[in-house]
Amino acid sequence: MQKKELLYEGKGKRLYKTEDDELLVSVFKDDLTAFNAQKTGNEKGKGALNCKISTLLFHLLESYGIKTHLVKTIDDSSQLIKKVNIIPLEVVVRNIATGSLTKRLGIKDGTTLPFALVEFYYKDDDLNDPLVNDEHCLMMDLLKSESDLEELKRLGREINSILKKFFEKRDLKLVDFKVEFGVDKDGNILLSDEISPDSCRFWDAKTDEKLDKDRFRQGLGGVKMAYEEVLKRVLQKRD
Ligand code: 5GP
Repeated sequence: MQKKELLYEGKGKRLYKTEDDELLVSVFKDDLTAFNAQKTGNEKGKGALNCKISTLLFHLLESYGIKTHLVKTIDDSSQLIKKVNIIPLEVVVRNIATGSLTKRLGIKDGTTLPFALVEFYYKDDDLNDPLVNDEHCLMMDLLKSESDLEELKRLGREINSILKKFFEKRDLKLVDFKVEFGVDKDGNILLSDEISPDSCRFWDAKTDEKLDKDRFRQGLGGVKMAYEEVLKRVLQKRD
């Protein structure tokens, strides 16, 4: 499928139209951004690593019955995807307290949470993606109904339980992650966007070394090596 004109450019990907109105090409960029793009960088090969990791994880989730926007990979850094209307919510699931949760609530960094915590953030750069509750989502018509909200929470928890077990077998702690969902032309809610070290936190199970975008956010260096390590572990046969 040939990519045609650029439809949208986000921080991590470019979306192109194709000759089929229902399909888009998503190209993963090497750009890195943090703190709502106040910090920017570029790591050659990062886009291809994220594309490979995300493709493998989407296939894994599909094998457990989670519907996704992914049709197929096209090349190292491109995927053919179904066109969806993105629900303007970031669904964040946390297993271990770190990042904005520790800052907001004063919980000690590294505390294992008693259950997987699901949060919603309203996707709006001008507002800095604020945390929102169920009633904010319904009041602002971000979703059609309360049952869609419950479905997003259920999907977030299910994705977490599949991925947490998968990464435990590969000596990685899935600390937290962000996922996005879209609605296709038939009204189905599909997992969209990506799941990669840009959108997840992974800590090595033995050393707690950070193997994700926090290396960029915190200026720790070794960003590409960390992403390569995650890909290596995702590729390990464990089942
Ligand atoms: P926090 O709220 O602690 O900053 O982030 C929680 C989790 O969601 C982390 O895994 C982080 O990478 C992910 N996350 C939160 N906001 C964004 C975002 O705007 N873009 C991406 N790629 N990931 C995000």
